[in-house]
Amino acid sequence: MSVIDEVKDRLDIVDVVSDYVTLQKSGRNFKALCPFHTEKTPSFFVFPERGTWHCFGSCGIGGDVFSFIMKKEGIEFGEALKLLANRAGVTLVSQQKDQAKEMLTERLHRISEAAAAYYHDLLLDAKTGAAAQGYLSQRGISTKTIDDFQLGVSPDRWDALHRHLEGKGYGKDAIMKAGLAAEKEGGGLRDQFHNRLMIPIRNEGGSVVGFGARALDDSHPKYINSPQTEVFDKSGLLYGLDRAREAIRERNQAIIVEGYLDVLTAHQYGVTNVVAPMGTSLTSKQMSIIKRLTKNIALALDADAAGEQATLRGQQIAREAFSDSASTQKRHGRGYLDGPSKLLGSLKIIVMPQGKDPDEVIRESPDDWKRLVDNAAPVMDYFFKAVTSKLDLSHESGKSEAVDQLLPFIAELSDSVQQELYLKRLADTVGVSERTLAGKIASLKPTAREKTRSAVPLPTTRAASHPLEEYCLALLLQNPWLQDRGVALSPEHFEGTENLEIFTAWLNTPDVDTLRQGLDSGLHDHFDSLVNRILPPASEREMETALADCTRRLWEQRLRRLKSLEEALLSEAESEGNKNIIKEQVESLLQRALEPTTQLKEVFEKAKHERKGVSK
Ligand SMILES: [Zn+2]
Repeated sequence: MSVIDEVKDRLDIVDVVSDYVTLQKSGRNFKALCPFHTEKTPSFFVFPERGTWHCFGSCGIGGDVFSFIMKKEGIEFGEALKLLANRAGVTLVSQQKDQAKEMLTERLHRISEAAAAYYHDLLLDAKTGAAAQGYLSQRGISTKTIDDFQLGVSPDRWDALHRHLEGKGYGKDAIMKAGLAAEKEGGGLRDQFHNRLMIPIRNEGGSVVGFGARALDDSHPKYINSPQTEVFDKSGLLYGLDRAREAIRERNQAIIVEGYLDVLTAHQYGVTNVVAPMGTSLTSKQMSIIKRLTKNIALALDADAAGEQATLRGQQIAREAFSDSASTQKRHGRGYLDGPSKLLGSLKIIVMPQGKDPDEVIRESPDDWKRLVDNAAPVMDYFFKAVTSKLDLSHESGKSEAVDQLLPFIAELSDSVQQELYLKRLADTVGVSERTLAGKIASLKPTAREKTRSAVPLPTTRAASHPLEEYCLALLLQNPWLQDRGVALSPEHFEGTENLEIFTAWLNTPDVDTLRQGLDSGLHDHFDSLVNRILPPASEREMETALADCTRRLWEQRLRRLKSLEEALLSEAESEGNKNIIKEQVESLLQRALEPTTQLKEVFEKAKHERKGVSK
């Protein structure tokens, strides 16, 4: 449970509101003279069961306990959270932890920066840097790139770095926490890196968080990374992203290469939309980071990986690329097929010429590289080529093998047009009718079929939390371009103050980073969970449809909410025998209670009409 939910859970809204206004019991609810406008008869109501309040008078506003305090005290969400958390006896552990964590993070960044500076100086020194300089010049890395990326070298000693850092005043504990040295047997420290080319790895914001290190002798393994630390999480970092971010956005394309040196060379030659995973396969976390910047992602593979290997490398890549989500899904018993589908729509493959790495291609001819990028094939085309080039399609066994290998991927395509095109291609390739193949798709796993039909299922509504609001926000936050398409929602559609705050901020800027910076830190956990929520794969059009559905449902929800509030109010008026409420007022209340009903009807009619239109 988030702190926000916990506070809401622990506080009785009646209790809180009572501090500001004198509440009178009214059936199951409470009423009072509205604290936000002047009136003679009470039209301000508190609904304890829902934890909400509403003014039926000239304000016509309402909300939860947070919005009440914010409005009444004239304070921002963060202050309201502090105030109410204090009242609820909820220590803002997450905030304290956040602060402590921020301090630790800051310290680890600083010490890592100090280490990077130290290694860099050693590289620039003619004596200590000779071997590394030799290697870099052989790989065509320029002095400017060495400076830009602050490349360095770790000396051929096991105590150099930690002694240097201790001399700078860093404690043993911090050095170990930064993954720069470990305790050795019998006490004392032993440096993590030794006689290696040091490649500082920066997070998206540009702070050094760890190192990639390449052996300068015959040591194995050739590459090692910093161990996992508070700030170094391989699965969520992409090398070069701090420098590639703008270019990825501007060119609306990200290219993923395998190695750190590929990134260096690419940037050196002006191809700056290039990043690399941390010497491992691409994780879903990394994919979601890139997807925040662009939907066009291309994977550069060397010819060996792409070419004539015995196994179906393409499938492997897709599987590996989503190793994270694949293993999660395996646990849920759905198999790995749910993973690659996320890639199928947006991922392209750039195949390097035989025997060449991306960095060689770029170095030898930036034009060739550009041509290869322009000719990147959709991953499905790549699968087709990879499968069919290895099978003997003149034989029955080869044909059925091709069907077995390719059909699951075709079944996973969420775009029905694409699906039909590839189905046709497979049918032509193996000489089987499309209908037979389509029938076979239908017999594949039901989850796969369902997914192709409704790419973006909507969540079911639970009471207490606001799943629909949250789903809608996740859609908006993860697809900033949706703001340009016009969103028919306004702040009043969000009942949870935490969601309302985020939505209002989103209206100002859809840029996730700017938005997050502008939010109160009390909202960060909630915000992060929305940004990182895994949404089903979908095309832009499907995203728009999902948003339209979501919008309609939020409208419906708001109208239902108003209607139920007004019904409660009316029943209260009746139970009191209209003693305190003059006839006129009831009539006007009735009128207003009916308005939402009419609006609601219109919304449903419209939805019905649209659904009919779609099914035609
Ligand atoms: Zn009012």
